[in-house]
Amino acid sequence: MKNTVKKRVAVIGAGIAGLSCATHLQALGFEVDVFEKSRGPSGRMSTRQGEGWAADHGAQYFTARDPLFNHELNSWIENGIVDRWNPNIGVFEEGRWRESSSNESRYVAIPGMNMIGKYLARSLTLHLNQTIDQLLPTNDQWQLSSKESGLLNSVFDFLVLALPAPQAAALTKALPNEIQAICNSVHMDGCWTVMARFSARPTFPFDAAFVNGETISWICRNQSKPFRDGQESWTIHASAKWSQENIELTPEKASTQLLACAKKLGLDCSEAEISLHRWRYASGFVNPSPEFISLPKFKLGVCGDWLNGGRVEGAWLSGHKLAIQIEKM
Ligand SMILES: Cc1cc2nc3c(=O)[nH]c(=O)nc-3n(C[C@H](O)[C@H](O)[C@H](O)COP(=O)(O)OP(=O)(O)OC[C@H]3O[C@@H](n4cnc5c(N)ncnc54)[C@H](O)[C@@H]3O)c2cc1C
Repeated sequence: MKNTVKKRVAVIGAGIAGLSCATHLQALGFEVDVFEKSRGPSGRMSTRQGEGWAADHGAQYFTARDPLFNHELNSWIENGIVDRWNPNIGVFEEGRWRESSSNESRYVAIPGMNMIGKYLARSLTLHLNQTIDQLLPTNDQWQLSSKESGLLNSVFDFLVLALPAPQAAALTKALPNEIQAICNSVHMDGCWTVMARFSARPTFPFDAAFVNGETISWICRNQSKPFRDGQESWTIHASAKWSQENIELTPEKASTQLLACAKKLGLDCSEAEISLHRWRYASGFVNPSPEFISLPKFKLGVCGDWLNGGRVEGAWLSGHKLAIQIEKM
């Protein structure tokens, strides 16, 4: 007779990888709890909101190549969660501007990039403001402890870590070396982000721009994306190299240098209201990509963008494919 007792899985991290894994596990009949340290789901696909304004300050858009991901993307489009974005993109290199010749399809969540996380989380058991700080193997199961609540009551048959590599490494310090080694195998660079709000649209010839060889690597007008109302807001990302070398700067000093670079590139933010965000672990991935890691003998799985190319599509696929693997165990 088929065992009908639902297996319990804990997923740590409510970024797109963790949510993709959790939604598919739930669809496969598992009982899933997702633990997230922040106030909301989405992780690095997030949108900063203030009074009368919003700005995507993590992932800016995504592309889709894999058939599985395209299938999911189509359902997001049908449900009004995602739309195509057709910006006029500039490229700055070797000291001059040109128009981008790429005709790649770019997609954004609407009305902000965090909408996909909210949508995926809507039917999940999501525990917010829970920073998991200990993983405790007990009688062939897992128990968790969080910074906010101490030892949690529930026990789980399987554990999924859906965190940036350095955060997974910190959490698995007390576990066998085999687990540690994987999480320690990749370095992730930080990213300083400026969000600039203007009273009127500033003069700049593009909706978005890739910048090479400068302190800044990306400039984007949020209102060029579909369904973005509110105050005129622009997102500026520092390059991975500059961010990593300057990750410990004060926000004021980082902002001064980034705004000076923006002005040099033609975006004058001197009249804008400025907010800053520092992503400590923004980008980095293992090459060749294993897609996900499953360690059946520890009843543990690891997923995330860093195991599959470092972008939104890879993160979603990493979580989804780990869920398929867990079902086979
Ligand atoms: C500035 C920036 C720009 C980017 N631009 C693009 C882009 O244009 N296109 C693109 O495709 N990709 C882009 N990316 C990459 C993209 O955002 C990521 O690939 C993707 O969002 C990663 O998802 P994830 O689920 O693997 O990780 P994350 O989104 O990082 O999710 C991990 C989650 O775990 C939580 N967490 C961490 N530690 C704990 C703990 N101890 N307990 C509980 N919860 C914990 C975190 O709060 C987070 O919510 C960008 C990223 C950044 C930072």
